[in-house]
Amino acid sequence: MKLDHLAIAVADLDAALAFYRDALGLPLTRVEAVEREGVRVAFLSLDDGASHLELVQPTRDDTGIVKWMSKHGPGMHHVCLAVADIEAVLARLAAHGCELINPQPVERADGTRYAFIHPRSAFGVLVELYEKPK
Ligand code: ZN
Repeated sequence: MKLDHLAIAVADLDAALAFYRDALGLPLTRVEAVEREGVRVAFLSLDDGASHLELVQPTRDDTGIVKWMSKHGPGMHHVCLAVADIEAVLARLAAHGCELINPQPVERADGTRYAFIHPRSAFGVLVELYEKPK
């Protein structure tokens, strides 16, 4: 397993980029609007692109991240681990009685499949699993 990204929830993506990209100096990989999830995201490269910081800004009021931010404020939102076989990892977690937000992987347009593990099972941290297209 590898660290794919750490995600930070922000209210204003451009203001966050002024810090993470301009002041801190992390290279910006891409900015994208994910209409289905009601978010705008920016990926900044760490370790020469081996992993990333993801900045997530909600663009609608009905998104999970808005609810999350109303409770926690902006800040560290989730840790994403890249795995080779997401079904195998989900089955293993289920066998251990872990609470899965996505018991089945969800597929993104680029073919990446992901699933979230509930923070109740991960000691307060929202954990995302990624399986990149081969
Ligand atoms: Zn993520």
